[in-house]
Amino acid sequence: MRQSMTLIPTLREIPSDAEVKSHQLLLRAGFIRQNASGVYSYLPLAQKVLRKIENIVREEMNNAGAVELLMPALQQAEFWQESGRWYTYGPELMRLKDRHDREFALGATHEEVITSLVRDEVKSYKRLPLTLYQIQTKFRDEKRPRFGLLRGREFIMKDAYSFHSNPESLDDVYNKMYQAYSNVFSRCQLDFRAVIADSGAMGGKDTHEFMVLSEIGEDTIAYSNSSDFAANIEMAPVQMIYEKSNEELKALEKVETINKKTIEEVASFLKTSANKCIKSLLFKADDQFILVLVRGDHEVNDIKLKNIYEASSVELASPEETKAVLGCEIGSLGPIGASNIVVIADHAVEAIVNGVCGANEEHFHYINVNPNRDFQVSQYADLRFIQEGDPSPDGKGQIVFAKGIEVGHVFKLGTRYSEAMNATYLDENGRTQPMIMGCYGIGVSRTLAAVAEQFNDENGLIWPVNLAPFDLHLIAVNMKDQDQSALAEELYELLKQNRYDVLFDERQERPGVKFADSDLIGLPVRITIGKKAAEGIVELKTRKTGEVQEVHKEELLNTISKIVTNL
Ligand code: ATP
Ligand code: MG
Repeated sequence: MRQSMTLIPTLREIPSDAEVKSHQLLLRAGFIRQNASGVYSYLPLAQKVLRKIENIVREEMNNAGAVELLMPALQQAEFWQESGRWYTYGPELMRLKDRHDREFALGATHEEVITSLVRDEVKSYKRLPLTLYQIQTKFRDEKRPRFGLLRGREFIMKDAYSFHSNPESLDDVYNKMYQAYSNVFSRCQLDFRAVIADSGAMGGKDTHEFMVLSEIGEDTIAYSNSSDFAANIEMAPVQMIYEKSNEELKALEKVETINKKTIEEVASFLKTSANKCIKSLLFKADDQFILVLVRGDHEVNDIKLKNIYEASSVELASPEETKAVLGCEIGSLGPIGASNIVVIADHAVEAIVNGVCGANEEHFHYINVNPNRDFQVSQYADLRFIQEGDPSPDGKGQIVFAKGIEVGHVFKLGTRYSEAMNATYLDENGRTQPMIMGCYGIGVSRTLAAVAEQFNDENGLIWPVNLAPFDLHLIAVNMKDQDQSALAEELYELLKQNRYDVLFDERQERPGVKFADSDLIGLPVRITIGKKAAEGIVELKTRKTGEVQEVHKEELLNTISKIVTNL
């Protein structure tokens, strides 16, 4: 491709609204342009990378036995009403009406559409399992679209759905998808981990997120420093035995703690430590108030709480609600005398001896508090976030944290949609059964951004060979020079004939501009034709290593192929 004939609008300045590297570089290198917030045009370079990612995804999906189809982005409200999600999905679902006032949604995901399709077309166990996928634009009116393609409101997703007549078959396809995803992200050269994710049920191993390791990731991954255990921090179970000290139990006492609000302030005022304090928080699980106790140096994991109560929402009670339920400020809460509500505590609390807690009265705390003597709890459970240094739940090593960008998600749905939407089949005995389902998503446009986030330096992007928009960047320093332009045209033809996809910079631009653009765009190998053109000598530069070498045109193909195979 001749560079003057395509559209690669590079920018010298860092766009002020782009916070992260991938967003900045994709804008600067002319890959994307924003339309509305979270809505982008993919310019020719980005489109080529997207195609490459999609092809990798297609190969791995097809290889795993999935079949491609394409469903509509415009989805009738009736399907979503049947599943119930029309009412629960919230404002993220983009809704609209047609000219007859009929309601539609722009597809945020396709469980409803595919379940309706398969329910109509598949009736017998003989046609199962069936795994279908598509690569398509999705719409989600995200609360905070940000980081460019990483969290868009219109983005490209590969979504797959599998249908089964028994759980073993679901396990089998799930494992194949898991493997296919690992292959996809390995082929994209990403540094990633598959982590146990929140399945809405405790300890479930039936959902994994694929996380690209990155400081800008929104998710925290808790992983073991000496095994392959890795979980989303939301899900990592804490498996610890807390030793109870054999200190003698002292008499409970109420003490004044004027203006001491935080755990740290209270602990230092009372000359004790945070791990002897009981942190009490009032939560609202759906409509029920629950007083949750954790140790002062721990944090409540609301996902664990949500899963224990099988609640659809869990949130902290407001100051007004707290006042109404326990008659005090949020900072003064405690379990003693809170007999009108459910109290639940993390296992670590049970081991506290002569501890400290709020007195449900402003400016007062209790000291020498002993659980089970001074207050009762309805349940001790795993309620806190795992912390760095905690033992790994698999018993091997210690937990360390990393930040991750979720690029893929595999999930066992069970019969959630088939039951709601009546997608059934006849089994061997002629009995009607709900289909068992799985779903599997990859953020294709997010993956592009994740690669850009992992592969760059101060001069620009550095594309892995199999994702680069072009294989080679051919630059003629001065196209007005007869020798240079003749050699450039000759090599351009030669490289194309040898099946290289070449970006040929034949623009009338200053050399500095051409080199800066070339580094910014980040193709794996640059071929520069300059002063030694008359001798048939060109310069090769490897983007990743910065290595430069001169070669005669006769040696060009050989040398390029060596460089590329080593990348
Ligand atoms: P997140 O927690 O990041 O919002 P999600 O759990 O909503 O993701 P899924 O519904 O599992 O995501 O969608 C499948 C995949 O689609 C995700 O793994 C992610 O790679 C991608 N994806 C989801 N939301 C977006 C978005 N707003 N922009 C770009 N890609 C997205
Ligand atoms: Mg989301």
